[in-house]
Amino acid sequence: MKAAEFETQIQRLVSTYGKAQYSEERVKIIWREVQSLSEADFSNIIEKMISECRQAPLIQEIKDYSAQAKIVQFNKKSNHTLSGQGGCSTCKGTGTVLVRRLDDLTPWAFRCDCEAAKLRNFKYPQWANAHKSAYKYV
Ligand SMILES: [Zn+2]
Repeated sequence: MKAAEFETQIQRLVSTYGKAQYSEERVKIIWREVQSLSEADFSNIIEKMISECRQAPLIQEIKDYSAQAKIVQFNKKSNHTLSGQGGCSTCKGTGTVLVRRLDDLTPWAFRCDCEAAKLRNFKYPQWANAHKSAYKYV
């Protein structure tokens, strides 16, 4: 998504929840978190948050909602291209490792360290064995 598209979408939150919640600093952090999403996905996330969040959604909510969107996006793709790519027990051939942080249960997606992931060029951080102590599989 382009910065201008992001601005347009953020304005929807600002007009719903008020300017005070969305300082320049906070908006910058949100931008870092969501820039890999498409505008359409981010727009859907905003819509969902506006309909579901009673209070201004900040970085934690946006992370949760965007992680969910990544999962949906991925599942859509996987139906078309992934059949027959099984074999890896960590990601079950999907290339993506879906986990939750043990401390706050935030959902995260990582890129698996296997052939299925290499084929797909995901932007998620690389999954490593060291992560196992801080995350649990979904
Ligand atoms: Zn794998």
